[in-house]
Amino acid sequence: MVTAKTKINIIIGDPVEHSISPQLHNLAYQHHKLDKDFIYLACRVKKTQLKQAIAGAKALGINGITCTIPHKVNVIKYLDKIDKTAKQIGAVNTILNKNGKLIGYNTDWYGIEAPLKKRITLKDKTAAVLGAGGAARAVCYALAKNKIKITVFNRTLEKAKQLASDFKAEYKSINEKHLLKSYDIVINATPVGMYPNIKDSLLTPKDIAKDQIIFDIVYTPYETQLLKNAKKAEAKIIYGFEMLLYQAILQFKIYTNQTPDEDFLRTQLYKLLKIK
Ligand code: NAP
Repeated sequence: MVTAKTKINIIIGDPVEHSISPQLHNLAYQHHKLDKDFIYLACRVKKTQLKQAIAGAKALGINGITCTIPHKVNVIKYLDKIDKTAKQIGAVNTILNKNGKLIGYNTDWYGIEAPLKKRITLKDKTAAVLGAGGAARAVCYALAKNKIKITVFNRTLEKAKQLASDFKAEYKSINEKHLLKSYDIVINATPVGMYPNIKDSLLTPKDIAKDQIIFDIVYTPYETQLLKNAKKAEAKIIYGFEMLLYQAILQFKIYTNQTPDEDFLRTQLYKLLKIK
């Protein structure tokens, strides 16, 4: 039951109506008997209204603000402080109101690190990152943090070069796919294969090595064509769902200062995404 003391967390984006975050976080508040303490709502905020929205949220004493498309980068200039990780990634997806000051965090990197650490020891591994956009930056941060040797493969070489220089990585054109088999880990951080283009894949089974880790951060559909191809090649696969789950776990911790029940969140996320 909501009271006058209930802290408000929101997600802002445009569009935002499709977001499952309000359901997921509110279910977790109930599960942890925190629903008197916290509530999570969605607010559609246009790009042109971002400054006013952040000032308004601050004036209202909103506890947490999740940022999704198109606000993750633009929001930075309206915050009081950015933590080191978010600064390096160059994007904020989680804002905490600490005694009236808005602090920006990024939790996407944890969505890469946690599932990888569950599967392998990261020390001395090599990784190929496909793509050089916003998500690829969080991917590179997680890999660099674990001292993994990174090569960025991208369609636009200039963007690959920029990302690679920020994370002391190498870079190559996405056309050099024949090189990918030699990496321990390949992470797709492009939207290729995402609904509705579910038959698309950057790699065929022939481009994938047995026992290599193939992590596709696309999560709609749950099992992308790339992951199907990886299974055919007998590679080890990691679903984009895992990234979504673990970034939400870290975000829950930032907003509530409590560790959520991972199995509960996993089950709820499966249901919300209608995964069978
Ligand atoms: P973005 O900033 O727009 O970057 C997209 C990247 O993909 C660019 O480097 C682009 O290359 C490349 N790309 C796009 N279409 C391509 C194609 N047909 N062939 C080869 N390369 C292509 O996007 P983003 O924000 O990084 O998001 C990328 C994907 O990650 C999206 O599908 C998003 O849903 C997913 N994602 C998942 C999670 C999760 O929790 N699982 C979290 C964040 C994002 P150019 O530089 O040449 O344009």
